[in-house]
Amino acid sequence: MARKPLMAGNWKMNNTISEAVVLTQEISNHFERDWDESVDVLICPPYVDLKPVWTVLDFDKTGIGVAAQNVYWEQKGAYTGEISVPMIKEIGCVASIVGHSERRELFGETNEDVNRKVKALTDADMFAIVCVGESLAIRDEGTTLDYVCAQVRAAFAGIDVFKARDCVVAYEPIWAIGTGRTATPEQAEEVCAAIRTTIADLYDEDTAEGMRVLYGGSMNPGNVAALLEMPNIDGGLIGGASLDASSFITLIEACI
Ligand code: PEP
Repeated sequence: MARKPLMAGNWKMNNTISEAVVLTQEISNHFERDWDESVDVLICPPYVDLKPVWTVLDFDKTGIGVAAQNVYWEQKGAYTGEISVPMIKEIGCVASIVGHSERRELFGETNEDVNRKVKALTDADMFAIVCVGESLAIRDEGTTLDYVCAQVRAAFAGIDVFKARDCVVAYEPIWAIGTGRTATPEQAEEVCAAIRTTIADLYDEDTAEGMRVLYGGSMNPGNVAALLEMPNIDGGLIGGASLDASSFITLIEACI
């Protein structure tokens, strides 16, 4: 089954509203209007930038979508500082990243939290970009596949197949995020293939074949082609290189 690639730019905590508008406009100016037939593109800016970024993309009719970097699972209430699924949905988001390693490591997000977020998003007919990935210590121990596949199982626990189908898994080895050190295409492929096998095991072959599995971790214009050549890598979750319009566009073009 041919899967349409997805390139998602995770801006992390970068860009004020005015900076976000400038960067989005630059991306839009260079994004050819027929590219969206071959590749799905998402920009994942900080919460405050979501509406302005969406407004530029919508006005320009780019076909590029917006997604949040995180979301809380409750609908509303006394959860100071949190943002709910209905809030990001109304802004125009189609998805949210969940379980990014920075959230897991810096903010104590657990597998159970990730699962609640996947459930909240899919219940609202949105999709989750579920991040999984091992630390260097786990890789050196030789338990990467067990660790990552357990994260995938936990994220999708109790999620109905019809809701899981549209979700995306992003394999992001922690040692490759923001470090300039990329997993080799073979290392990334081995884990992405194991993720797909886990999805087949949890659901069925069709669901596994249809689900997009992304690679993330210092993806850049120099390594994108070799990574995308791998049969189980269906695009990228891109941090640093998505903050520069020309690099992000080059990465998107690699999918055309
Ligand atoms: C990320 O934050 O998801 C990421 C992959 O970052 P970078 O591309 O900068 O390694």
